[in-house]
Amino acid sequence: MRVYNFAAGPSMLPEEVLIEAGKSITDYLGSGMSVMEMSHRSKWYEDINEECRSLVCELMNVPDGYEVIFVQGGASTQFEAVPLNLMHTGKADYIVTGNFAKKAYKEAQKYGDVKLVASSEDKNFTYIPKTTALDFRKDASYVHITQNNTIFGLKYEKLPDTGEIPIVSDMSSCIMSEVTDVRNYGLIYAGAQKNLAPAGVTLVIVRKDLLGRESALCPTMLKYRTQTEARSLYNTPPCWSVYMMMLNLRHLKSRGGIAEIEKVNRRKAVLLYDFIDGSDFYSNKVEKESRSIMNVPFTTPNAQLDAKFVKEAEQDGLVSLKGHRLVGGMRASIYNAMPEEGVKSLIEFMKAFERENR
Ligand SMILES: *Cc1c(COP(=O)(O)O)cnc(C)c1O
Repeated sequence: MRVYNFAAGPSMLPEEVLIEAGKSITDYLGSGMSVMEMSHRSKWYEDINEECRSLVCELMNVPDGYEVIFVQGGASTQFEAVPLNLMHTGKADYIVTGNFAKKAYKEAQKYGDVKLVASSEDKNFTYIPKTTALDFRKDASYVHITQNNTIFGLKYEKLPDTGEIPIVSDMSSCIMSEVTDVRNYGLIYAGAQKNLAPAGVTLVIVRKDLLGRESALCPTMLKYRTQTEARSLYNTPPCWSVYMMMLNLRHLKSRGGIAEIEKVNRRKAVLLYDFIDGSDFYSNKVEKESRSIMNVPFTTPNAQLDAKFVKEAEQDGLVSLKGHRLVGGMRASIYNAMPEEGVKSLIEFMKAFERENR
């Protein structure tokens, strides 16, 4: 029996995608082998690589002037690849709105003069700090943000105004969850295991004019040009993850693309937040205008009840609801693959749990 898996990552994939992958597990398109076994130089894999790239471009409406590549090392490797590739003035500005943002800021400090422009750590990352274009240094190479904070459950509804300075965004936990205008970014990166594919591949979308000024010390494997010039085939790619991403993107396209999934995602989030806000038993501390539509942390009146909640929910087929250790309580991650019925089942469970435990 499939459960509703509320894990923050790796997370659910659509059942149709898993079934499709299962069909080809021993023999992909009459090749007599699995995608896991075939050469990344084969025609079959070349086609997968190209279809996956072109689906990203189509679904996200990626304009000319941007490169789309698949790299390895997860989003965490991008914390260093970004400064190594883009910090040509020796300066970069960071906004810290959560734990991953803090890590990105910390790693970047190895490579230049990095300014912390704003942070919401003073209130345990429950809000997006306000900034204006004047807060950023004119000679900063880029401004780094984490668009959706996976652990604390908050997101940018509106991008900061950075004037002419390109925005670099970690979109690991919100990529393709809502319509995004790629033109507003210098670079977007996202580890795949939240909303795109199994772990192993990281999507990078980068404006071409930002390339070519990398640090002399930038490792070949972290240099974006290595993969843009080799169409993500410089070395052995994570073929299976890219294949799964292709299947998942085909599925997303068949569901009407990002605009349609955004409607579903917003409905799911509204259902859950409205229920939490209408209850005096459950609470969510994030300021309303910055609430994530992907990750919804919440608590009961005390930690004992939180633990009981997680345990009993699991017995009900609602799994991985335990909150991150930095926040405690529960967290429901409701990515693209979480059906609306999953969120409704969670709310029914929450109602019953409240009746029995208040
Ligand atoms: C999960 C996550 C990461 C870390 O991703 P890895 O692929 O495990 O390195 C970084 N940033 C955000 C916003 C995340 O959600």
